[in-house]
Amino acid sequence: MGYAILSTWKMSFQGVCEASCLLKDHASAGDAAVRCIQCTEDNPAFVSVGYGGLPDENGRVFLDGGFMDGDTLKFGAVGALEGFRSPVAIARSLKDSNFNNFLVGKGAEAYAEAAGFEKRDNLTPESRARYLKDKGKTQNLFSYDGHDTICALALDENGSMCAGVSTSGLYLKKAGRLGDSPVIGSGFYADSAIGAAAATGVGEEIMKGVLSFRAVMYLRSGMTPMQAAETAVRELKEDLANRLGRTSSISLIVLGNDGTFGVGTTIEFPFAYASDTEPPTLYLANAGSDGRTVITRVEDPATVTQD
Ligand code: ASP
Repeated sequence: MGYAILSTWKMSFQGVCEASCLLKDHASAGDAAVRCIQCTEDNPAFVSVGYGGLPDENGRVFLDGGFMDGDTLKFGAVGALEGFRSPVAIARSLKDSNFNNFLVGKGAEAYAEAAGFEKRDNLTPESRARYLKDKGKTQNLFSYDGHDTICALALDENGSMCAGVSTSGLYLKKAGRLGDSPVIGSGFYADSAIGAAAATGVGEEIMKGVLSFRAVMYLRSGMTPMQAAETAVRELKEDLANRLGRTSSISLIVLGNDGTFGVGTTIEFPFAYASDTEPPTLYLANAGSDGRTVITRVEDPATVTQD
């Protein structure tokens, strides 16, 4: 059986390169997905994940992360976590107990410290300077500035799948705010017998559609990854427009258990993919006028400005 790795945003490209090398060397889907995400968590150039993540309304960086093992359906998640290097690694470690899989705030930090996870002050001088400039501005939930989640979906050569996510959430968010990212079913979902999905965009809207679980259920009903991703995003977009009179920034990646991928999006959305038959490749997805997604291969990454 082949392998595949699919991840959100241009910032994931290096991670996809490293994850695909691991998968080629027979690593597990979980190890590959976590490696993919940690590349971004450790890079301060990316301001919506890990080190360099943008702070909340009080100037503090709180991170969210999630992980799901598609073989067992076990999951772990952390929310509003301050002062640690890798929320996705902590989330992954939480999946193995029968209870207490989703920890937030002080409880999550106490667990991470006791379990020996690496600590780190994630506020960089650049993020602090940006905060001091923007402090007190009204947060516009419909802008896409300063938030993006790294999501990674992996399939290994044994047919095991997983989903992992990591983010600092919305820039200037309220203290204690959680988005969709650490919430199983909304931010991520994986079932090795079917496929996996993960979302990025305005979490308050993504949760209304329980978007990742919805896409995996569409896969189960026989849709291709592309159809599942397009349908889930189109339906949520239509519901938001009809009921609330608004559109929002939402993107969804879907990986089938055969390694094929699909993407649904309401905005221009870069993502990266690699498999046993395709080298790491950066793609650009755009919303088509008919609810379809138009995907183009990016020949020159420098032409993509959105991280
Ligand atoms: N979904 C994330 C959140 O709402 C942000 C993002 O992916 O852009 O926290």
